[in-house]
Amino acid sequence: MIELTHIEKRFGDNLVLKDISVEMAEGSVTALVGPSGGGKSTLLRCINLLETPTSGKIHLGDEEIEFAPGRKIGWQQIQRLRRQTGMVFQNFQLFPHQTAIGNVMEGLVTVLRWPADRARARAMELLEKVGMAHKADAWPATLSGGQQQRVAIARALAPSPRVLLCDEPTSALDPELAEEVVEVLSRLAREGTTMIMATHDLRLASRVADKVIFLDGGLVVESGPPGKIFSKPERERTKKFIASLS
Ligand code: ADP
Ligand code: MG
Repeated sequence: MIELTHIEKRFGDNLVLKDISVEMAEGSVTALVGPSGGGKSTLLRCINLLETPTSGKIHLGDEEIEFAPGRKIGWQQIQRLRRQTGMVFQNFQLFPHQTAIGNVMEGLVTVLRWPADRARARAMELLEKVGMAHKADAWPATLSGGQQQRVAIARALAPSPRVLLCDEPTSALDPELAEEVVEVLSRLAREGTTMIMATHDLRLASRVADKVIFLDGGLVVESGPPGKIFSKPERERTKKFIASLS
């Protein structure tokens, strides 16, 4: 359902992603792990076109876009692809001047032009899913980090994206608060939500991911099921990285 083919991303002279080709099936969860600076965030940002790949091809659902240096991609095509993705950030990035439910409704009302009552019903459904219905009218500043992240997940899911992209969703949280976010993400995974997440949290990756991609220096060094990558990695670089975390 998601296919990245020969994706490269260059910032000036810095080739940050080097020939990334991966496929993700519908309903699967992929964890991107690897050292800081390895290209995890850039890869996620290329999938929803917050960054434009320098070259390569992205196939997501019904959209296929081919990138080449100097080739202009139409705004409508960018929007169509972006609408198939939802993004969750390390630092939640809720709109501070909107309540929890307001945050979840925002995109439905302003981008998709849903009537407010329909958007409110959908938002409430999602807040229930992430265990935040009781805080629907709370302001973000009054919520814990774990609660804010759960609202952010509900917001990302509101327009029913094909894939949920999560960039270090638990990294800003204390272990206890991280746990509530891990619970929500693993429930979504069990329900068949397609997800790609960058994470340092091996516990999160082991519990939620079907497949781990170890990314270092902009290259896929190794990939496979979490049990394999975390306990029997084949490559020296993967072994060293896993050892450094435990
Ligand atoms: P990770 O998420 O694995 O830590 P990143 O994707 O953030 O890695 O970064 C990969 C490399 O890309 C780093 O060398 C970083 O400095 C560089 N990079 C990321 N974003 C930009 C940008 N907007 N401009 C220039 N360089 C960037
Ligand atoms: Mg990152």
